[in-house]
Amino acid sequence: MQEERIELVRPQMGTSRALTVRRFGKPGQGPKAYFQAALHADELPGVITLHHLEALLKDADAKGDITGEIVIVPFANPIGFTQYVDMKPLGRFEMRSGQNFNRHYPDLSAALIDAVDGKLGQDAEANVALIRTELRRLIKEHRKDVSPLTDLQDLRLTLAELAIDADYVMDLHCDWEAPMHLYISDHNWPDAADLSAQIGSECSLIAEISGDNPFDEAFSRPWVELRRAYGDKFPILMATLATTIELRGDRDVYDDYAIADAANLFKFLQRRGLIAGDPGALPDAKCDASPLAGVDRVMASHGGMVVFAVEAGAKVKAGQQLGYVLDCETGEKTPFSSRTDGVLYSRIGIRLVVPGGYLCSVAGEKPLEGREGQLLLSK
Ligand SMILES: [Zn+2]
Repeated sequence: MQEERIELVRPQMGTSRALTVRRFGKPGQGPKAYFQAALHADELPGVITLHHLEALLKDADAKGDITGEIVIVPFANPIGFTQYVDMKPLGRFEMRSGQNFNRHYPDLSAALIDAVDGKLGQDAEANVALIRTELRRLIKEHRKDVSPLTDLQDLRLTLAELAIDADYVMDLHCDWEAPMHLYISDHNWPDAADLSAQIGSECSLIAEISGDNPFDEAFSRPWVELRRAYGDKFPILMATLATTIELRGDRDVYDDYAIADAANLFKFLQRRGLIAGDPGALPDAKCDASPLAGVDRVMASHGGMVVFAVEAGAKVKAGQQLGYVLDCETGEKTPFSSRTDGVLYSRIGIRLVVPGGYLCSVAGEKPLEGREGQLLLSK
C-alpha cells in the first residue's frame, strides 16, 4: 500500500487542506477501482466502510492477491469537515459559495469526442486504452483552463483526476434516513445488477443525466456520449461503471453495517477481477432498477413539524398517508402522500420543516409526469 498526501490550494493565510490517497496494487496491471467517502462531509458511513475495506485490502495485499489497482480516498472533503456550526456539521454545501460539493464536476464529453476523431479502430480494448489516454490528457488540460483559485475548485479537479481513468468509480454517500440504495447511469444497467445485489441495495435508481454534473456522472457520461457519436462505426464499450452508493442514513455509523458493507465491496472487486479469490454466490437481488424520473419528491405545503407514519425502506401505495405536517399556531394539520406506489427510500432527518421543504422520496417503477431536467434533490 502506498499513501500520498495531496495539498489543495491554500484557502487563506495560516490555513491548509489536504487529501489522503491510499493505493493498492499496481497501475496498469488490471482493472482500476476508485473509492471515495464523505464528499458530503457529514456523511460518515462510507468513511467507516472504507476503514474496514482497507483492512481487507491490506490482508489481500500481504497475500499477493491484488490483481488490479485500487485507489482509496478515505475522506474526500476536508473543506466540509471544518464547517461545524451551532453543534451541527454542515457538509452538503460549501458555506462560501453555497454550492453543493457533489455538483459541477467537469464534463469532458465534447472534448473527448473531438480528441478521438479519426483515431478509433475495430479493436474494442484498444479503443478503451486510447479513450483513457485521452481522458487523462483532457483532465490535465482542463486544470490549466480552470486554473483553480479556490480550494473547492482544486478539490473537485483533484478528485476527478484521481478517478478519470478508473473502470469502477464508487462514490460513497448516505441519505438522512434510508435503506441501502444507489444511483447509476442507465447505460451501466444491467451490468451493475451484481453490485446492487451484492451490497443489498433496496432501491437502485437509474438515469442518464440527473442534473448539474454530480461526481459519478463525470466518469460515465463521456462513454455514453462517445458511444452515441461513434458507436455505429466502432466498438466502444461502456468501460466505466460509476455509481453513488447511499449507505443508509447519516447516523448509521456502526461496525456491524460497515464490516458487512466492506466485505460486500471486496467480493464485488473479486468478482470483477481486481482481487484473487472466490466471492461466493451472488445474493438474491432485493430490487430491480427504478427510473430516477419515477421518484416522487414529497414536499411540505406549509411550515411546522413533520410526524412520519411510515419507516424509511417501507413499500407504500400511491395516496397512502405517509405522515402529516402540523402548524401548532393555526392548528393546520396536513397529511401527505406519494403520487406513486413504490419504496420510500429517503426521509428527511430533521422534524422542523419549512414551506416547500423536503419530506421524503418514493421510487416508483415508471417515470412520473413533470419529472425531467433536474432529477436530484438540490443544487
Ligand atoms: Zn451525499
